Amino acid sequence: MEVRLKKEILGIQFDDLTRSEAAQAGAALLDEDKFHYVVTPNPEFILAAERDSEFRQVLNGADLVLADGIGVVYSAKIQGTPLKGRVPGIEFAADMLNCLNQRGGRLYLLGAKPGVAEEAGRNIVEQHPNITLCGTQDGYFSDEEAVLLKVAAAHPDLLFVCLGAPKQEKWMARWGRHTGARMAIGLGGALDVFAGKVARAPESWQKLGLEWAYRLTKEPQRAGRMAKLPLVLVKAAGTRLKKS
Ligand code: UDP
Repeated sequence: MEVRLKKEILGIQFDDLTRSEAAQAGAALLDEDKFHYVVTPNPEFILAAERDSEFRQVLNGADLVLADGIGVVYSAKIQGTPLKGRVPGIEFAADMLNCLNQRGGRLYLLGAKPGVAEEAGRNIVEQHPNITLCGTQDGYFSDEEAVLLKVAAAHPDLLFVCLGAPKQEKWMARWGRHTGARMAIGLGGALDVFAGKVARAPESWQKLGLEWAYRLTKEPQRAGRMAKLPLVLVKAAGTRLKKS
């Protein structure tokens, strides 16, 4: 596999890719006959990984580490190691679905509340007729091994793991290679979006880097989590000061 340029932001090694470069890299991974996993860290992940070394290793061990969210892009800039841009997980997922549709392949959806993955799957297959939805499983289970066996028995090519962080990343690193899939992607609340339960911000907000603010208006209970985010920017400034 080609060597890609990595940029370290507060302990996490990000791939410095545009959305289309990430899609190309993802397509190449999907063509390889072995397991790969993709992570999409946002500033909350960065803070959590500072305190959780297993999580940090799992993130840095991924085949693709994509900068999900404007907070990562700002941190990179403040730190003096700018990234080409952000690659929202949901957009990378859409690109991988197009790729799977072109080749024809099997998709498994793991995560979210009961019924959501099925609904997401119906919507995805409606738009991608060459994709076979080979299975779904909600994200509220206790027996990890039983879920692994269920996923493996469905023989997926592509697997979306949507359990929230760090659960989804740890699940992929621990069990992913036993699923037989070529790629697993950790995608947080993406199944809720594909199911039409949660809307993404209008494009004009996305372009302004305000997707987080839109989400806050829809899910005000996230305020506590988001209040920590300026801390990432301050830490990035600290890193820059240390370097200068
Ligand atoms: N979730 C799950 N199992 C759990 C905890 C969460 O399947 O034990 C799901 C939850 O229903 C939601 C997603 O994981 O669909 C996480 O969403 P969150 O908003 O935390 O992720 P983000 O989009 O911020 O990465």
